[in-house]
Amino acid sequence: MAGGRMPAPPVQFAGRRGKMSRRFCDSPRPDSVRSIVLGKLLFFALVGVLVYLYFKSTQRRQVLGSGAAPADAVEDMVRCAHCRVNLPRSEAILSKGEFYCSAEHQKLGPVRR
Ligand SMILES: [Zn+2]
Repeated sequence: MAGGRMPAPPVQFAGRRGKMSRRFCDSPRPDSVRSIVLGKLLFFALVGVLVYLYFKSTQRRQVLGSGAAPADAVEDMVRCAHCRVNLPRSEAILSKGEFYCSAEHQKLGPVRR
């Protein structure tokens, strides 16, 4: 206690002044604003990526759906001459002007009822 210097009061004043001056001059806003803006940017970037991925997946699904549906619709259906099962022409076996669903039915030949 021989020094006589009391550092406590000046620190308190400086703190008050610091707060006051910070508010008007180099306020703590830039940092927080920057982090908020960064956070917002990150958030929107994330949302954008998610939306982009979502639309990409739906578009791919639509392309696949629109590509597959007409092909099935356009393809002719033929009837097996043996068991009379309907099947796509591309999957049928043509033999002597008759369509068959399998090689087995092709061997067995047409059944007339
Ligand atoms: Zn058949």
